[in-house]
Amino acid sequence: MTESDDIAEIRRAVRSLCAEFPGEYWRAKDRERAYPGEFVDALTKAGFLAALIPEEFGGSGLKLDAAAVIMEEIQSSGCNGASAHAQMYIMNTLLRYGSAGQKAQYLPGIADGSLRLQAFGVSEPTSGTDTLSLRTVAVRDGDHYVVNGQKIWTSRAEHSDLMLLLARTTPRDEVKSKTEGLSIFLVDMREAVGSGLTIKPIRTMMNHSTTEVFFDELRIPASSLIGEEGKGFRYILSGMNAERILIAAECVGDAKWFIEKATDYAKDRSVFARPIGQNQGVQFPIARCYAQMRAAELMVHHAAAVYDRGGNPGEEANMAKLLASEASWAAADMCVQTHGGFGFAEEYDVERKFREARLYTVAPISTNLILSYLAEHVLGLPRSY
Ligand SMILES: Cc1cc2nc3c(=O)[nH]c(=O)nc-3n(C[C@H](O)[C@H](O)[C@H](O)COP(=O)(O)OP(=O)(O)OC[C@H]3O[C@@H](n4cnc5c(N)ncnc54)[C@H](O)[C@@H]3O)c2cc1C
Repeated sequence: MTESDDIAEIRRAVRSLCAEFPGEYWRAKDRERAYPGEFVDALTKAGFLAALIPEEFGGSGLKLDAAAVIMEEIQSSGCNGASAHAQMYIMNTLLRYGSAGQKAQYLPGIADGSLRLQAFGVSEPTSGTDTLSLRTVAVRDGDHYVVNGQKIWTSRAEHSDLMLLLARTTPRDEVKSKTEGLSIFLVDMREAVGSGLTIKPIRTMMNHSTTEVFFDELRIPASSLIGEEGKGFRYILSGMNAERILIAAECVGDAKWFIEKATDYAKDRSVFARPIGQNQGVQFPIARCYAQMRAAELMVHHAAAVYDRGGNPGEEANMAKLLASEASWAAADMCVQTHGGFGFAEEYDVERKFREARLYTVAPISTNLILSYLAEHVLGLPRSY
């Protein structure tokens, strides 16, 4: 695949920024479960997180394919874009469905990084993947909505000024279709924390700054509503394709990191008086992961191209996410195996990247749910749930 000079330049620029944040930086953050604020600030300052914001609002107005390259390079450099990726794509819902006033109010700040919009409140503890059963409610009261309920896995909530929140505004038994009656709000967390919004961190196997969020009679201005009341599920769905393509690009980047790391180690490590990489038993798993990664990479670029042409890439975005998350996880496992005992040693970064890569066959959508989408919506098999 030959790339344009612009894309090659983006790759070079991201790589050079990431070189300032080597393994020791990430290991220290990982140990403390600390937010990599310096890294996120550097990405923001360089304008990378504003890649998809149109130029009229202060962003660089790039296509999704270019944004995907940014995320891929971050991961293939050994950094962790999960600390910031949502700043790139959550604003999509505001851009597509927000009023002119909302866009003018928020997008320039999101573009220059003075406003962080990187918390996405969809998942709930009781409903899980069944988003339409979510229980958080927003009830109109004059010029306000009053929000009650709970979200879980709301990542980066402690490091975000704004949250995009999905809540039910009409009870499920009062709407014709269960996809109706959900609405999207842009919640200003700077005002809400301590006045009805409580954030509790969740410690996970990797450094991910995820949280649970409690809403107790939180009053938000009615002007926080994005688009039309009751249409929020449709708005969220349309933003998810971009999110899946970008996360898939991150997985391709992770796979590249694991493959390079394993290849270098297999050339270097000598056992039985020859490099371990001379044994086909060591070579073949690396070569297989390479082929798997390249196939996933093609699907990511194809999905991004469909998106950039204005098409509906539901099928392609889901397949890209499925294939790329499986390719990165296979490469992670292979990389540990190639390193033998050293795969478990913190200083090699393999075990950290291994833990980080594990997430993506579960979130932001699990493999089973993607297969279910393909089975039902692409192959026409009967709906199973
Ligand atoms: C670190 C982390 C960060 C996250 N960040 C965010 C965030 O910022 N915002 C947000 O809203 N959410 C976030 N999530 C939530 C994430 O999107 C969900 O965890 C994911 O969608 C799976 O949902 P669940 O955990 O409720 O699993 P469940 O829905 O409980 O499912 C459990 C398992 O059962 C399977 N399953 C369920 N139903 C079916 C079925 N009908 N057929 C076949 N298999 C089925 C699933 O595939 C899964 O493997 C995050 C999660 C994690 C772990």
